[in-house]
Amino acid sequence: MAATPVNQDHFEPPDWLDREEEVLAPYAMRTRQSKGRRHPEPAHPYRTAYQRDRDRIVHSTAFRRLMYKTQVLVVQTNDHHRTRLTHTLEVAQISRTIARQLGLNEDLTEAIALAHDLGHPPFGHAGEAALDDCMREHGGFEHNRHGLRILMELEYRYAEFPGLNLSWEVLEAQALHSKLRDAEEIKPFLAAGQPSLEAQVVDAADSLAYDTHDIDDALSVDLITLDELAGVSFWRRAVERVQRQHPRVPPLQFQPTVVRALIDWQVSDLLEQTRNQLRTRRIRRVEDVRAAEQALVGFSPEVHALRAELEAFLHERVYRHYRVQRMANRGSRLLRQLFEEFSAHPGQLPDRYRARATEGLRPRAICDYVAGMTDRFAQEEHLRLFHPSTPV
Ligand code: MG
Repeated sequence: MAATPVNQDHFEPPDWLDREEEVLAPYAMRTRQSKGRRHPEPAHPYRTAYQRDRDRIVHSTAFRRLMYKTQVLVVQTNDHHRTRLTHTLEVAQISRTIARQLGLNEDLTEAIALAHDLGHPPFGHAGEAALDDCMREHGGFEHNRHGLRILMELEYRYAEFPGLNLSWEVLEAQALHSKLRDAEEIKPFLAAGQPSLEAQVVDAADSLAYDTHDIDDALSVDLITLDELAGVSFWRRAVERVQRQHPRVPPLQFQPTVVRALIDWQVSDLLEQTRNQLRTRRIRRVEDVRAAEQALVGFSPEVHALRAELEAFLHERVYRHYRVQRMANRGSRLLRQLFEEFSAHPGQLPDRYRARATEGLRPRAICDYVAGMTDRFAQEEHLRLFHPSTPV
């Protein structure tokens, strides 16, 4: 059937809440079903609540700082590899593609994806482990819990409320990403059951994105070689696919073409497997998603096994590579020294954090300050504290 042509002279934008009813699958989250915001606000005249959530995340300070935060490799290694910002954009892009194909709420999916790594401290997982250790007697540190603190308290952009005052479903996705189910920040989000399909899609896209781009980055900075990768089934089979489609792929285009084939394979597999799950488990409504025994978005057993082998290779050859270990230990040492110095002499903290540090919450205030830093800022701050000729 031919589409009705749009009258350009009298174009009336659709009501997006009605539009959601037309385009979304029955198991997608609708804006009208949202549990809303902690601090009630009037609706925006032309953006849905989840669009507004996404926009608030993009305009936040924590989002801009992702540019100078490490994923695996420290920012200074070169200017081509992923940072947390570009990783986040890849996750958002892949998540939206999957969400659109499954008829899920793209705005909610995108908001969850753009927020998913906001709570990471500088220097990746080494930084997280160091801060968790510094905070052992004071409630510990974990990036998902810290992400919630950023979204609910630490951003200070709005006169009417602390944090970004996002919709409950975006916060819930952040909370359920945490494995610390007993933590006070996480408990209020546990009652709804399984995460929404939108949140499950972001989880899968996150894992798919970093497994693939860590291989790409590791090759590009010579942590691993193509010969070593030939021993990994997933890579080898992706190469075979590429060679069937492009028998004469030039050397410069070889690596990105295989990486693209790996992403495409995983996304296609995820879509097919997830559609099967939704069909065979008779998922008809959001309530069915919530009540399901397990997550519904996932890979086929075959791709699951191929990914497991790839991940084992990454752990062995990339994350434990001596150069990666040096970067990790340097970052970890630096954060510990910052934390100890500010704990011993809190008068050196900037005003906003010093004010909080004197209210009996000193370790958490220092942890918030250090966790909010970028890799670059942490290194500069370390020089300002410890290097005699650096201007303070
Ligand atoms: Mg991530």
